[in-house]
Amino acid sequence: MNLFKKTGHLQGYLQEARKQGSSTGLVPTMGALHAGHLSLINQSKQQNSLTIASIFVNPAQFNDKKDFEKYPVTIEKDIELLVAAGCDALFWPTVEEIYPNGYTSPVHYELGYLETVLEGKYRPGHFQGVCRVMDRLLDIIQPDNLYMGQKDYQQCMVVSRLLNIMQSPAVLHTCATLREPDGLAMSSRNTRLNENERENAVAIFAALQFIKENIQPGNVSAVIEQSRRMLEEKEFRIDYVAIADAETLEPVMNWDGRQKLSALVAAFQHEVRLIDNMLLNG
Ligand code: AMP
Repeated sequence: MNLFKKTGHLQGYLQEARKQGSSTGLVPTMGALHAGHLSLINQSKQQNSLTIASIFVNPAQFNDKKDFEKYPVTIEKDIELLVAAGCDALFWPTVEEIYPNGYTSPVHYELGYLETVLEGKYRPGHFQGVCRVMDRLLDIIQPDNLYMGQKDYQQCMVVSRLLNIMQSPAVLHTCATLREPDGLAMSSRNTRLNENERENAVAIFAALQFIKENIQPGNVSAVIEQSRRMLEEKEFRIDYVAIADAETLEPVMNWDGRQKLSALVAAFQHEVRLIDNMLLNG
């Protein structure tokens, strides 16, 4: 696997590869890789002649400084995993390489309603930071295909909007969430959970499944209330439990039985904030 820390070196490599008519798949990550990330690499490998992963813990998208400082870094293991997965190249830039003029510049992306709900509401500025780094990565790498996880459902919608804003020809592929055997969505942040917290954490999956199995047409507040209780019983401090239109993320309080829905959760297991979501009807 080719490892690049410098934009110019990566671009030289890509130029050569494109002479041979390669199609390029990009898998952007923040490292501390797990099987969920590797499933994105696999999908890219199936659909492209060249797969590039990036590892960059993006300071611009952390609204909570402590979360940024505690974000797990396991670069040596990450490199081993990427080599074993057959990834062609890794872009592992420094903050200065991505943001030569600092990361607090006043660029603003028009994300509209999407930025005012759920993660947008509870993590102010987060999606602007996501757009900044994605804008930069897309500009540097110019991928044909982009692979991201449904685990970050709203992020996929934001990036889809960004591709429109940038008039980027890259195609976004939203990939299924990989889960641990007990249902917990794989996440780099899971490594911060102690044994008791790890056991509690499965309540998020249980709450989402409860919603999926029990939702009925009509008012959905009782099913939300019950799922909140399931989380609170396992020591979660809840940011939100929401049932929303799967395409717009507008909250749904009364379901007509046909509208496509997604259930979304963000909650703290003590210090560690976890998110997950589930499509409720297809
Ligand atoms: P992160 O390193 O957390 O920024 O994640 C990098 C990419 O991997 C994002 O597109 C995530 O949505 C995706 N991802 C994270 N966890 C999972 C998972 N459990 N299954 C599939 N994709 C995931």
